[in-house]
Amino acid sequence: MAASGFYDPRLERIFPPNAAVRSDGALEIGGCALPELAAEYGTPLYVIDEQGLRDRMRAYRDGLAERWPNSQVAFASKSFPVLAAYAIAAAEGLAIDVAGAGELLLALESGAPPELIHLHGNAKSSEELALAVDAGIGTIVLDGEADVERLDALLTRPQDVLVRIIPGVDPRVPKAISTGGAGSKFGLPIPQARQLIERLAAHPYLNVVGLHLHIGSQVLEVEPFVRAVEAVRELGEFPVYNIGGGLGVDYHLRHRAPSLDAYLDAITAAARRVLPAGSRLVIEPGRSLVARSGVTAYRVNNVKRTGATFVAVDGGLADQLNVALMDMEFTPIVADRADAVPDTTAQLVGRQCESGDLLVDGATLAAPAAGDTIVLAATGAYGYTLSNNYNGALKPAVVFCRDGASRLAVRRQSYAEFLGHHVGPSEQAWAC
Ligand SMILES: *Cc1c(COP(=O)(O)O)cnc(C)c1O
Repeated sequence: MAASGFYDPRLERIFPPNAAVRSDGALEIGGCALPELAAEYGTPLYVIDEQGLRDRMRAYRDGLAERWPNSQVAFASKSFPVLAAYAIAAAEGLAIDVAGAGELLLALESGAPPELIHLHGNAKSSEELALAVDAGIGTIVLDGEADVERLDALLTRPQDVLVRIIPGVDPRVPKAISTGGAGSKFGLPIPQARQLIERLAAHPYLNVVGLHLHIGSQVLEVEPFVRAVEAVRELGEFPVYNIGGGLGVDYHLRHRAPSLDAYLDAITAAARRVLPAGSRLVIEPGRSLVARSGVTAYRVNNVKRTGATFVAVDGGLADQLNVALMDMEFTPIVADRADAVPDTTAQLVGRQCESGDLLVDGATLAAPAAGDTIVLAATGAYGYTLSNNYNGALKPAVVFCRDGASRLAVRRQSYAEFLGHHVGPSEQAWAC
């Protein structure tokens, strides 16, 4: 195996598969040097290892198909709602999961086949459902009676649907991302799901083809997935079982998420025990599909030594909200000197006005200085998703890199776009 050139070779498993360190010490992703990308596209910048992402999609698709031939992997697109990512997922043979009109429009615009699109959500509007029905999407996941009533008013032909159930499985993950426990706002408890399914048996258009569940995100053990598969047994036999996503990711050298093989082995072994032979098994990975392929690049604006050393960059909560929402522990590196052993322990902070705007607590960095490019590894999932305009920050650009070439996937928001949402003094006389 070629040496990656990182100061610590163990970092290879946290950074994208096609990350390497050039002889001058610059970190490269997909053959593009990060300090050069930062100069060309500006910072903060989300950078994607396109080949790494494609390879991961194939590993998921082929890995599941080898173990359970009648299977489907759907890209849970909320993890990275970028048009290019939808197009790549469709090109790699994945189905697409959306949870609202905006994501549905991105999926349709990407050219993904409508029959491979699934719509979820616990509060779908009639307009959203109409858009989905008109587009002819493959599957709508019913959260309960409200969806049935709205679809009743819309449908003039059969529509395949799944019923979302609460499996009563509470994985050990932060509360904000646990969705399968008894108190979940998503789906129906098993007895209510049973009643709904019985009632829909005679429905002229709503065709219940199976069940759906999703237990949560950043799950770092396989056992909760096994319990969730086992929970569906009570409801009888169906052609389709969608068991959601949720596999965790290593953000730090200390983390050890289950491998893709271990996860697929566990769920398919459980499926073999409890699901009818020949039924279709669907999974919906988001985080574990995209996180490792993406990094976020920042420019250092300020290095200050007070009680502690603070290395302040030009982004923060506005582009990496997960640090505050989920206490994420990301792995940083000075992209100009990725071969240099860190000599500085610092608080890596952002520029937004909150003390929670701490990107890495106790970051170890190699001689950080103003003007350096600092990269956070494994930030491909939910970073872009949660980007916002806190303190007037502009939503960052997204660039895909492969074989030494970079392609812009999302333009950086401009100040004109930022200001343009507001109704100002030229249109309304606010000052009188
Ligand atoms: C968020 C979500 C996923 C993806 O979860 P990950 O943890 O990103 O894999 C899959 N299915 C549903 C219904 C979701 O809400």
